[in-house]
Amino acid sequence: MSSPEFLWSNTYNEWSPEHMESPELIAGSCICCDGNRLSKSPAVLMPFVALRVFGHEPLEITADWGLRDLRQGMAYTLCNSLQCQGCGALFLDYRFTDKQMTALYQGYRDESYTRQRNHFEPGYAAVAEHYRGREAYISDVEAWLAPHLPALPAVLDWGGGSGINTPFLLQHSLLHVHDISAVELVKGAERVGPEQVVKGRYDLVVCSQVLEHVSFPLALIEEIHAALGPQTLLYLEVPHEALMREHRGSLDLARLKRHWHEHVNFFSEQSLHCLLDRAGLVLVDSYFLPVNLGWRQGEVMGVLARRA
Ligand SMILES: [Zn+2]
Repeated sequence: MSSPEFLWSNTYNEWSPEHMESPELIAGSCICCDGNRLSKSPAVLMPFVALRVFGHEPLEITADWGLRDLRQGMAYTLCNSLQCQGCGALFLDYRFTDKQMTALYQGYRDESYTRQRNHFEPGYAAVAEHYRGREAYISDVEAWLAPHLPALPAVLDWGGGSGINTPFLLQHSLLHVHDISAVELVKGAERVGPEQVVKGRYDLVVCSQVLEHVSFPLALIEEIHAALGPQTLLYLEVPHEALMREHRGSLDLARLKRHWHEHVNFFSEQSLHCLLDRAGLVLVDSYFLPVNLGWRQGEVMGVLARRA
């Protein structure tokens, strides 16, 4: 993801009477299409996430426990991989609360975070270094978006952190970043709060590398909807995860997804379209963009949408 400071704090996580339904903290239906035909397979939550979210630490069961019915060996935090048999979305069963999300992403990639994560995942510190600058593939994103936009677009980046990876950072008439973090913005970007987000003011609203982290992606898109005027385009970008690419269209992926980390949602193309539909948006264009940064190869999936 481009930054730690995306918005997970959709209100669905608040247990308050004004909300009609309490959120499911263990998903019982699809996070994208709401379908309830889910395949399920046991998996482990990676120790760093388990520690930050639940306070769990890996534990070795040894002979001196004297337990007759448990095998010896390492015990990790268990979870389930779920795959929707309707739209293909593959996701972690746990849906973290706002509080848990805050605990997980506190000080994202700062020194203390990096040290703790490096303890569980040796080599992480070196990887984190690569995330400091602007991602090289953003120029390809801009090239793809440009034909849909005026030459100097007015842009809002929802959850864009410092704005370092915001498209059109150097070529805009207005560049707002809406983000709950207090991180310092890059030159040219201006911070706005929800009350300053004026419907219809933007040519482009971006929400990039965020949805794969959040517990309730539909709620986030519905929140963003408030910023969209009739002419505004919304660009959503998520990773096209290797497992989804290698088994395109497969609905038998739950058993192959053995571990979960900070990306708790793996989207299929169809699942993203379902989200748009449910949020009252229509698809304008979509693409897959190979990302080859030398140290990291992958692919992102981008969709461009507007209000229905
Ligand atoms: Zn689904």
